[in-house]
Amino acid sequence: MQPEYVDFHCHLDLYPNFEAAIKQCDRTRTATLAVTTTPKAFSRNKRLADKSKFVRAALGLHPQLVATRSNELMLFSQLLDQTRYVGEIGLDASKQHYGSFNIQKEIFKEILLLCAQAGGKILSIHSVRSSTHVLKALADYFPKDRGTAVLHWFTGSKKEVERAVELGCYFSVNQAMLATPTGKRAVSSIPLNRLLTETDGPFVMDGMDVVRPGHVQPALMTLAELLNLQEDDLRFKVIQNLKTMLTHPMVG
Ligand code: MN
Repeated sequence: MQPEYVDFHCHLDLYPNFEAAIKQCDRTRTATLAVTTTPKAFSRNKRLADKSKFVRAALGLHPQLVATRSNELMLFSQLLDQTRYVGEIGLDASKQHYGSFNIQKEIFKEILLLCAQAGGKILSIHSVRSSTHVLKALADYFPKDRGTAVLHWFTGSKKEVERAVELGCYFSVNQAMLATPTGKRAVSSIPLNRLLTETDGPFVMDGMDVVRPGHVQPALMTLAELLNLQEDDLRFKVIQNLKTMLTHPMVG
């Protein structure tokens, strides 16, 4: 099924009507990664995504929930062979979540080791105030011939973007990220062949409303402007990048 758009990080199950959110992605032919925040949420996501042409469900354990949900790591490992996609996972060193940073690091390490062992997984990774730690963990526990990491809303330095590229990472970019100087700066360093789009809905606003599931057009528009490309060329490039990522995982 040829997609028209790519939304590689969206919390479809956190919209008021989950099934309508899936339908919206199918209607707009948006290849959408439905990320989840706890392993317990995965099975329903998988069941509904399996009926969709354009939505795929990811198994996640969100760093902001690790403080209370680390006991679901066992369930995570039991469910892992049911999907190629993992997320949302990662680290969050913001003030609010710094208290659990040590346990977050332990859980992230365990998840990366499980994924590396399984092989062929594609990961959607959160890295708020922790780009350096996330990249170090990827280098240490997730060799690039064992799977692919997609850095979601990545706002690391130019050097960190370069390091991530060496590690085989892709980057998914949303419209809120493009509205900030750090986000814009990060995007200007990302190679075009590693770029994907996302909404991070429903956590991102589109004007006065919550961004619609799969609605990456504002991100595409801003990105095209920043990169000096035609919007449609960029849209097509992102679709190509997704295909390349899915069919030719990194080797060596
Ligand atoms: Mn998210």
